[in-house]
Amino acid sequence: MTKAAQPKRAARKPTPSSPKPTPRGRTSKATPAAKRSAPPKPQGSLNNGERLAYAGSLIRNIPNFPKKGILFKDITPLLADPKAFAIVIDSLTEHFIADQIDAIVGIESRGFVFGGALAARLNTAFVPVRKPGKLPGAVDRVAYALEYGKAELEMHKNSLREGAKVLVIDDLLATGGTAAAAAELVRKQGAYVTAFAFVVELTFLDGADKLVPVPVVSLMRFGAGE
Ligand code: AMP
Repeated sequence: MTKAAQPKRAARKPTPSSPKPTPRGRTSKATPAAKRSAPPKPQGSLNNGERLAYAGSLIRNIPNFPKKGILFKDITPLLADPKAFAIVIDSLTEHFIADQIDAIVGIESRGFVFGGALAARLNTAFVPVRKPGKLPGAVDRVAYALEYGKAELEMHKNSLREGAKVLVIDDLLATGGTAAAAAELVRKQGAYVTAFAFVVELTFLDGADKLVPVPVVSLMRFGAGE
């Protein structure tokens, strides 16, 4: 089941006819122009859905990368915008703050960016899952099927304690094969995947179906060609 972020509350709209309260409860009418507090910044009055829409607007579509027929979602402009990056990390934090997660498993390589920042916020361990041959110590390995061919992922042995509650994170959910393989590594070490988190979900590929029954949180969802 996929859960997209929903606005938690409606944005508070300014009422132009009523005077604006100042920090000391005075009205702006009684305050000299030079001393009036600055008007609220637009982003301060946006709700969560609108903030995520702003962050999502910075994701760039690159057609035919890395191969013909793929519409690549490039998140680097989002990362380059401090406000947008903060919106994403704030939103993920809100989703998982109460879940008492023991470790965040981030998938190479863009899962490291979001997973690392979220782990620091949630005060949890961060554990990387990498492509073969990148981790220096002894590893557990899983193989999984791609659309054409096979791939493998590795995690350092003894990264997770038995029974640990783990969140698996990546930038994007497409077919779900990569996230399912990362979950297999987690379970190999006797830990539990309590949720999957993605910044972007490509809904037309039904990747969340591969991750059932674990809850999937995706902040932004895109259909075919969007
Ligand atoms: P999948 O295993 O099919 O769910 O693919 C997910 C992985 O491939 C993630 O690590 C993504 O970063 C990457 N990926 C797949 N499709 C795309 C896409 N259209 N744009 C950007 N990254 C993608």
